[in-house]
Amino acid sequence: MKAIRYTDYQTFPQLVEVDKPTAGPGEVVLKVAASGACHSDVAVFNDFVEGTNPLCAPQFTLGHEVAGWADEIGEGVDGIERGEAYVVYGPVGCGHCRFCMVGQDTYCENVAEVGYLGIGLGRDGGMAEYVVVPARNLVPLGDADPVKASALADAGLTPYHAIKLSLPKLNKAGSTALVIGLGGLGLLAVQILKAMTSATIIATDTKEDALREAEKFGALTVPSGEGQTEKIRELTGGRGVDAVFDMVGVGPTVETAMKTVGTNGRVTIVGLGAAGSDYNWQWYKEPYEAELVKTYWGTLPELNELIALLQQGDLEPQYTTYTLDEGLDAYQKLLNGEVSGRAIIVPNERF
Ligand SMILES: [Zn+2]
Ligand SMILES: [Zn+2]
Repeated sequence: MKAIRYTDYQTFPQLVEVDKPTAGPGEVVLKVAASGACHSDVAVFNDFVEGTNPLCAPQFTLGHEVAGWADEIGEGVDGIERGEAYVVYGPVGCGHCRFCMVGQDTYCENVAEVGYLGIGLGRDGGMAEYVVVPARNLVPLGDADPVKASALADAGLTPYHAIKLSLPKLNKAGSTALVIGLGGLGLLAVQILKAMTSATIIATDTKEDALREAEKFGALTVPSGEGQTEKIRELTGGRGVDAVFDMVGVGPTVETAMKTVGTNGRVTIVGLGAAGSDYNWQWYKEPYEAELVKTYWGTLPELNELIALLQQGDLEPQYTTYTLDEGLDAYQKLLNGEVSGRAIIVPNERF
């Protein structure tokens, strides 16, 4: 079968012929319906050098945002039906530490023994006709579209996790939320906030078209640049924002987050931008009791919940599809910054 593989450090991926995988005990082979190309894949093949992360070292098949149909069911697997559609929870931990026990494999304490981070992250992923995954990592889709579901596996789950942890800040009338950065994750963050809270949603970005998209989903928008923080604060009645989500995580966006959060508010740095910020909250000045946290991806139960939002019709992920043969073009476009929304590779149209 064909697969898009990360073959060496700082080397553009290759479309190669590999053996079709088989399901070991507790595993399932999926016929891949959709596999999202992610900016973190670009970081892996473009920026990683030996030692950056030994758990995500070449070689492996890319693709950690995967949905497909169960094709081969391994020994000891119950409750998975051949031909049914599933979305894959990408992180794979040891399964028995205190984080894995609650489906939070992202923070597995035994990750070094596991030997990889997850599907398409050190272990073969879904940029192929077939992928083998632990049965535990499968979330049933029912009638939901596997292509849309794959777009949620990371780009939806990551904001969903951050938003869920911030709900205590938003569960009151008159609350406000700010989304900084309106790429795939940011636009989904706006929709998730709309579906789950009554907060006034403010969204900010440099790009005009991204602002217009966010408005379609019910956000008030403020462009980046001159007067940005003042305008955002004005939209909160001068109080500052209750829950800020920085989907970018670079110096200037972190600073915008810190300057706009209100007393008792919460800043979540969701984006994995490389640059930090020197900004400090000043003593004897608001915001008192504001908190700053960073999050990474999300949990297995949360992916299950997020699929319920998709099934209810509350989420409209933005994406463009490509065939597996066009997959390298998709990565090249991602590398060039020419992709808006998600680039989703569709290796198989149907089961
Ligand atoms: Zn991703
Ligand atoms: Zn674990």
